[in-house]
Amino acid sequence: MIIDSHFHTLEMKKKGLSPRQVFLEDTSENDFWGGLDIGIRLEDFEERRNLLEEFPHIRLSLGLYPSEVELPNLDEKLKVLEKTLRMWSWSQKMGPVVALGECGLDLHWQYGTLKDQQVLFQNQIALSNKYNLPLIVHNRNATAEVLGCFMNNPPTAGGIMHCFSGSPKDAQLFLDYGFYLSFAGNLTFKNNNDLRTTLRYVPRDRLLFETDSPYLSPVPFRGKINRPGYVRYVYQEASKVLGIDTDVLKRVIVINFLRLFPAFGEDEKLRSFLARE
Ligand SMILES: [Zn+2]
Repeated sequence: MIIDSHFHTLEMKKKGLSPRQVFLEDTSENDFWGGLDIGIRLEDFEERRNLLEEFPHIRLSLGLYPSEVELPNLDEKLKVLEKTLRMWSWSQKMGPVVALGECGLDLHWQYGTLKDQQVLFQNQIALSNKYNLPLIVHNRNATAEVLGCFMNNPPTAGGIMHCFSGSPKDAQLFLDYGFYLSFAGNLTFKNNNDLRTTLRYVPRDRLLFETDSPYLSPVPFRGKINRPGYVRYVYQEASKVLGIDTDVLKRVIVINFLRLFPAFGEDEKLRSFLARE
């Protein structure tokens, strides 16, 4: 079973894919199991929730992406976020929301001011702690600043550094906070030896893989619209880089995913996969 720890269903839809069709195809064609549909705003939560009701192997994260700082009424939004978490989170009501994010800092696009971004991020770290939901962290050119927020307000529910692309030294700093590092399609890019070096450094029990669909397609689909089933190319590359069998790696990742998201612990498909010799 292969898991995609990070995709955006409704962004796939905006690119012209039918998410329902994609999930039906991907789950039947290969050993793709499911994963996390990641939120970036609050307004589309209802649609995501309805769409995914029929796919029990897909759960949701909910949060405010750094670009949301440019919109008015952030305090109101944070209140709505909290209210929605109280109603729909796994930790509160066994709901479909199992993580908080995607949130973090983006100094590449410089949404709002750094201060605005930090305030929005810190508020979400606090909610992650309060509702015991792992954080899905977006970090673009902001490693020191993200760590600064962690230092002010240490995350206690752990989480994922998504699309990790830092050095082994950066990796260690996030590992020290108990985070998992999720590698995406850029691991397959020919010129990305640095990232492959980082992958070798990360302890296997802290690894996850993702597509970030519809963005960042792996080789051989680079430049095309990405879809969750393509996470298998990230697994293939990682097993080559690490020199371990893909089947062994799949098992490692399932175990990691279940450790971070106990909400999936009852899943029959995953249980029988792990029970196999
Ligand atoms: Zn994302």
